[in-house]
Amino acid sequence: MDSAFHVIKTYGMYALDTARLQTSSSGGIFTILAEDVISRGGTVFGAAFCDDFQAVRHIAVSTVEALEKLRGSKYVRSDVKEALPKVLECLEQGSGVLFSGTPCQIAALKKYLKKNYENLLTVAVVCHGTPKHTVWADYLKELEQNYKSKVIAVNFRDKSEGWSKYRLRILFANGKQYVKTKDRDIYMCGFLQNITLEKSCFSCHFKGNNIESDIILGDFWGVERVAPKLCNYDGTSLVIVRSEKGFQAVEAKLSGVKYAEVDLPSAVDNNSSLFCSAKMPENYDAFWQAYHGNKCRKSIQKFLMKKNYFLLIKNKVLKVINRGNH
Ligand SMILES: Cc1cc2nc3c(=O)[nH]c(=O)nc-3n(C[C@H](O)[C@H](O)[C@H](O)COP(=O)(O)OP(=O)(O)OC[C@H]3O[C@@H](n4cnc5c(N)ncnc54)[C@H](O)[C@@H]3O)c2cc1C
Repeated sequence: MDSAFHVIKTYGMYALDTARLQTSSSGGIFTILAEDVISRGGTVFGAAFCDDFQAVRHIAVSTVEALEKLRGSKYVRSDVKEALPKVLECLEQGSGVLFSGTPCQIAALKKYLKKNYENLLTVAVVCHGTPKHTVWADYLKELEQNYKSKVIAVNFRDKSEGWSKYRLRILFANGKQYVKTKDRDIYMCGFLQNITLEKSCFSCHFKGNNIESDIILGDFWGVERVAPKLCNYDGTSLVIVRSEKGFQAVEAKLSGVKYAEVDLPSAVDNNSSLFCSAKMPENYDAFWQAYHGNKCRKSIQKFLMKKNYFLLIKNKVLKVINRGNH
């Protein structure tokens, strides 16, 4: 853990409301915080799919019902350009604003605003990195061709088999569904093995103490070891409070959640994305040179096969060397 990392409190937490919890990526804490801001007449900014699902952009939401659009992680870079002037407008009017996003988006907002606003609450998600949005659009077009139908819903974190076994679920207008675990879906493999990430994610400046938000939310991986009482089939969030404002916001909502304060170093032990940038794969540039938009799945698959084949050989060689040393 980064020894300079300053926090006020660290919690494990999940929403008691099952409907909210099941439609969120981890413990549903984003929704709890967002509903509080909306109940006081404020506006919430976060990432939502465009109508055709091929892109993600930040939008403003001012009703509890519309929060559904922001709920859940979208593993695609979200465009914040149009949202930033709207945030400024709301803040200048004096209404409460919750802005949520990746740490780099929080930094972009702060730079844009140029000054601090008492009525602004910022919530960052721990970020592995974001895939280029063109890959997602290519991937979706290919699926639509294969299923001969338009996409009508996407859930990157379907929890019907539980939080830890989350699946990508895509619904089509003709009633068909595509459902795959993260290790079986090509898009998720490309994302988690870093090949489709934006290049800037490999040297991200917004890690650890450089995350400028009041609150940081993440998946509490390893909760069964660190805080077994908070283990939950539908997910547990890691909630890191970094400012007095963030502390007030979280403390005000504790009646709607199951929670416990947890030891920071143990809690972040399984979450390297909080402190470290994703590692650039060796043949990242070669992958992009060979990438074909209209053969997105094949392009990623080819790279993964090469990488896994290389790892297999490497492991076999290491085994032989180790045997020789004993
Ligand atoms: C690209 C990405 C990578 C992530 N990587 C990790 C990780 O490595 N480790 C980890 O512990 N957690 C990671 N998370 C965060 C985690 O998946 C949950 O989003 C977080 O725990 C909050 O969950 P929740 O249940 O409270 O709320 P949810 O309802 O699941 O969270 C919704 C929030 O996420 C924001 N969001 C969704 N998609 C995007 C997007 N594309 N860009 C910006 N903001 C978005 C929404 O604006 C909203 O604020 C990542 C999230 C994203 C979007």
